[in-house]
Amino acid sequence: LKSLLKDPDLLETRAYLAGDWAGADDGATFAVTNPANGETICEVPEMGRAETARAIEAAAAAQKSWAAKTAKERANAMRKWYDLMMAAQDDLAMILTAEMGKPLAEAKGEIGYGASFVEWFAEEAKRIYGETIPGHQPDKRLSVIRQPVGVVAAITPWNFPNAMITRKAAPALAAGCAIVIKPAAETPLSALAMAVLAERAGLPKGLFSVVTSTQSPDIGLEFSENPTVRKITFTGSTGVGRILLRQAADQVKKCSMELGGNAPFIVFDDADLDAAVLGAIACKFRNNGQTCVCANRIYVQSGVYDAFAAKLAEAVGKLKVGDGMEEGTDLGPLISDAAREKVETHLADATAKGARVILGGKPHQRGGTFFEPTIVTGATREMQFATDETFGPLAPLFRFETEDDVIAMANDTIFGLASYFYARDLSRVYKVAEALEYGIVGVNTGVISTEVAPFGGVKQSGLGREGSRHGIEDYLEMKYICMSV
Ligand code: ADP
Repeated sequence: LKSLLKDPDLLETRAYLAGDWAGADDGATFAVTNPANGETICEVPEMGRAETARAIEAAAAAQKSWAAKTAKERANAMRKWYDLMMAAQDDLAMILTAEMGKPLAEAKGEIGYGASFVEWFAEEAKRIYGETIPGHQPDKRLSVIRQPVGVVAAITPWNFPNAMITRKAAPALAAGCAIVIKPAAETPLSALAMAVLAERAGLPKGLFSVVTSTQSPDIGLEFSENPTVRKITFTGSTGVGRILLRQAADQVKKCSMELGGNAPFIVFDDADLDAAVLGAIACKFRNNGQTCVCANRIYVQSGVYDAFAAKLAEAVGKLKVGDGMEEGTDLGPLISDAAREKVETHLADATAKGARVILGGKPHQRGGTFFEPTIVTGATREMQFATDETFGPLAPLFRFETEDDVIAMANDTIFGLASYFYARDLSRVYKVAEALEYGIVGVNTGVISTEVAPFGGVKQSGLGREGSRHGIEDYLEMKYICMSV
C-alpha cells in the first residue's frame, strides 16, 4: 500500500497520543486487514485504559488554551487541516479502500464529504452566538453565553472511516473542545492519517488524539469513568449505544448517539419509476449496503410492484462486484465474514418464509466476503430484515396497497433514522413526509447526506444531530449570567 501512495508518510502505524506518536505501553499490536483479499496491511498498537487516560489528560491540558483562542484562530487552523485533507484526497481514499473495501471512487467521495465537515465547522466556529434577555426585574441584565463542553471522547465505526471522525472532531474543535478518538479496530489507518494531517496543520499537541485498540469495551469504560471526559459521542450500533448511555449515566455525561437505522424506501404508484430505481440503487447499494441510512425495506405499491421489481433487477444486474481498488468496481467486499453471514441468514430466513429471489442470492464467485447484489420479492413483516438491519447488498421488496398501510408499516420499528419515498402528488408528498417518524426524509432522492443539513435519528436511532448549524450545539454548554446593575 505504501508504494501506491504519493505521500507514504500518511500510512502511519503508530497511535497519536498527547501530540506524540506512540506504541502500546507493553508493545502489543493488532493486525489491520484488507477485506478484499484478507491480507494483513500492517499492525497498529493495541492500547488499553492507561494509554487512553494519558490521552484524556493531555486533552484537558490542551483544551483550555484552545478554547481561549479567538474563533478565527481556531477556524484558521481547521481550514489548514481541511486544505491538507483535500490535497491528500487520493492517498486518503487509497488507505480507506485498503482497510475498508469500498470502491476507490466512493472512498474519494467520502474524503470530500469528510473534509466538508472540517470546512463547515471551521466557518461555524465564528458564529457561536449568545443572547441577551430582557430582565425580569428593573435592575437585572440577563445574558447567555455558550462555552465548549470540554474534553470529548469519540467512538467511531468502520463503515465511514474518515467522515465519522470529522463529523465529530470538526464541531468539537470549532467549539473549543479537545477530542480523543477510538476508531473501529477494522479501520484505524484512516483515523491515523487524519492525525498526521492534524499535526501538520499545527493543531496544538493533545487536542486531537487517536487511540487504537481492539479492546473497545475497556476504552469505553475509561471514557465513561474518567471524570475529565465531559461528553461521549458515538456512532455505531444501537446495542453498543445503550451500553455507553448506561455507563455515561453514572457521571451524567453528555452523550450524542448516531445509532442503527432500518430505513424504509417507499415507491408510490405515481412515482417516476426510473428515478425511483436510480434512487433505490444509490440508497441500497452504496457502500455495499453498509450504511445506517441504506434502504433496508423497500415498499412498492401494488400497481407498480412488478414493473419496479423488473427495472430494479435489470439495473442492479449491471453492477460490478470487485476489489475496490479495481477500476469500474461498483460493489466491494463486505467488511467481515460475520457481515456476509448476516446477509446469508436474512436471505435464508426470507426464502424459508416464502420470499422469491429474483437476482443474486449467493456468495459471489470471488469468494471471501464478497456477496452478489440480491433482490427478493414477496417480503413480509415476519422476515428478519423487517425488524433488523441487514447491512449488506440484500434488497427486499414489500408490496403495499394504501398510503395509510405503508406509513404504518414504515413506522413499525424501534428505529427512526432515514426514510425515503418517491411520489409526485404534492399533497401526498407533504402528508407522508410529516407522517414518517424519522429524523431524515428523502423525497424523490436516495441520497441525503451533506454537511449543511442536520443528520440524526429519532426513537432508538439516537440523540443529537451532526452537521449543519445545529451540529455544533452538541459540543457547547449554555451559561446564563444574571447581573444586577
Ligand atoms: P458495528 O456493527 O458497526 O461494528 P458497533 O456498535 O459494534 O457497530 O461498533 C461501533 C464502534 O463501537 C466500534 O468502534 C467498536 O469498536 C465500538 N464498540 C463496540 N463495543 C463497544 C463497547 N462495549 N464499548 C465501547 N465501544 C464499543
